[in-house]
Amino acid sequence: MNSNNSDAMATLLEHQQMAHTQNMTVSAAQRRERIQQIINLVVDHHQILVEAIEEDFGGRSQGFSIMNDVLGSLASLKYTRDNLEPWLESQTREVFSPYDQLGSTARVEYQPKGSIGIIGTWNAPLYTLLAPLACALGAGNRAILKPSEVTPKTAELLHTLFEQHIDPLLVSVVTGGAEVGATFSALPFDHLVFTGSTTVGKQIMSAAAQNLVPVTLELGGKSPVVVSNDCDLVETCKRLAIAKSNNGGQVCVSPDIVYFPKNKLQQAATLLLENFRQFFPEVSNNADIVPIVNRQHCQRVVSLVEQARQAGCEVLSSHEVASLSALIDADKRLPLQLIVSPSKAERIMQEEIFGPALILLPYDDIDDVISDINSRAKPLALYYFGEDESELNHVLANTSSGGVSVNDCLLHAAIHDAPFGGVGASGMGHYHGREGFLAFSHQRTVFVAPEHDPRQEWGLLPPHHDQFTAMMAAQVNAD
Ligand code: NAD
Repeated sequence: MNSNNSDAMATLLEHQQMAHTQNMTVSAAQRRERIQQIINLVVDHHQILVEAIEEDFGGRSQGFSIMNDVLGSLASLKYTRDNLEPWLESQTREVFSPYDQLGSTARVEYQPKGSIGIIGTWNAPLYTLLAPLACALGAGNRAILKPSEVTPKTAELLHTLFEQHIDPLLVSVVTGGAEVGATFSALPFDHLVFTGSTTVGKQIMSAAAQNLVPVTLELGGKSPVVVSNDCDLVETCKRLAIAKSNNGGQVCVSPDIVYFPKNKLQQAATLLLENFRQFFPEVSNNADIVPIVNRQHCQRVVSLVEQARQAGCEVLSSHEVASLSALIDADKRLPLQLIVSPSKAERIMQEEIFGPALILLPYDDIDDVISDINSRAKPLALYYFGEDESELNHVLANTSSGGVSVNDCLLHAAIHDAPFGGVGASGMGHYHGREGFLAFSHQRTVFVAPEHDPRQEWGLLPPHHDQFTAMMAAQVNAD
């Protein structure tokens, strides 16, 4: 079936929802078995999947794709498979007085929602689909996946593999670009998960609102790094260089703006560039550098840097290159670019970089850093490097971000036993582990009334006499 046109997608969803309604109780064993099917698909076909990603990026190394997308997805799937059983158990809750003394009970049950729509991105073309899928299946749901059109070979391969190995009433894949995405997000799913840009996230939420479909939005932003005066600068710059080179900087939690104490900025810049050069002695044809995914995205990153340079900003490069633009036509691998103290007016200060460039800002007073972070949209991640516990707590208490790593970058996003998600402009809702299970479950309260109904003898039923209001009023107090 060509499931990509509008009617076919609607029919597929209808069939999934019908299958769900006919089998609403999904045991722990069934959920584990369903997750195992996906694990087997990934394990059995991981080689052709990473080859497809390599082709889509024009040279993303297979080793990196195995680490990032194959092992990342498997870790999510296996964590849910191995931990879901206790999550399914209903929870006893306290009943209000005096019904609690009359034998009432209350519990919360966790019901599958139905069919979950999952829209993914190109930067982690398997992970952004399969990690939410792990939680969706763990919660007993069915799902339809929409991979990014920017990685078309991977998208088509996923479509074929799921068609060949997985019941479409359980999980199906539809392919296409923004237009298909728009149609997809207008369908009456039981929950929609979108990973992507803030701009498209707003359109998704607006489309979902027409059907009152709840959304999880996994967006991006300009994640800041606060470097404390007492940090180990050598180690800090090494870890920042590692983080910034990860996936060629094309990571939603990639550091974007780094605040250094004024007296450390120059040395930090040198260390960052040295570290990057040590990891990557050459840029072009270096298989260890992940290329920018396509010409258009590469052009976007280069133009952010060039626009800042033309505005008079100091731009430092890890490698001498005649022109960044020439690298777009070479193999889309870029050296690390450091943009020192750009003004707020520059585009690079407003847009998520999503490439191997970092903004360096000097500071004297940590409270100025906090004010600056708070003057921008809430980021997906915040990083702190240093050993000053009270300063760290001050930064944490006075800023907001989706998540935090201390003395490293990116790593909090890899925890399965903790929620991952944004706040404000960087997203809403969470997945990973139990929080992912809860996001895709309907938390249904079940109250069981006592045998004896005391309302008549307590004078609570109509027709009410004068004492009713007095009786109610007597209970209004601030204790
Ligand atoms: P994007 O928003 O351009 O596209 C994401 C997906 O949305 C694609 O599948 C695309 O086909 C679809 N789409 C595009 N227009 C649409 C529309 N009008 N209606 C419905 N769907 C539409 O994002 P991208 O360039 O693929 O990814 C980069 C962004 O994703 C960055 O901002 C990054 O920070 C973010 N991201 C976030 C996370 C996270 O977990 N929070 C992870 C990876 C990437």
